[in-house]
Amino acid sequence: MGEGDTMFAPQLEIEISGFAGELAATDWWSAARCNDGAGTMSGLFFSEELQDIARAKQICAVCPVIADCLEGALERREPWGVWGGQLFLNGKVLASKRPVWLLDEPFAALDASGQTQVAQLMARHCGEGGIIIAATHDPLGLGNESLKL
Ligand code: SF4
Repeated sequence: MGEGDTMFAPQLEIEISGFAGELAATDWWSAARCNDGAGTMSGLFFSEELQDIARAKQICAVCPVIADCLEGALERREPWGVWGGQLFLNGKVLASKRPVWLLDEPFAALDASGQTQVAQLMARHCGEGGIIIAATHDPLGLGNESLKL
């Protein structure tokens, strides 16, 4: 799969387009943030790319009908996609789909150039939705995204 591709199976696209009519019949669908009337956001909400999933969840976070949407998705046991701010798989909410890096002193024994490269890799990993758990004496350079214990 290339970047920006989605994991839609053809039959799932048909199911989704058929389901659009059911959504339109609800009293909250017209207020949905993802409802642009043309279905242009479907790729984002049914993507397997972490960046897309994170973006869809951001859109849900400020959606005025998030509670109705989540309740409905749980009742229908949605097979896939972001609904009500949660990622669903086989009718259940996935707690997380974020890759985790466990690092022990990631900057140790590296020169300045190596440290810069590692810092860039970590920033990219976090920017794509990943999580880093590190034991380190050095600041990770992740700004407000980090939590020290
Ligand atoms: S909560 Fe998310 S998926 Fe549900 S209607 Fe709002 S934007 Fe769309």
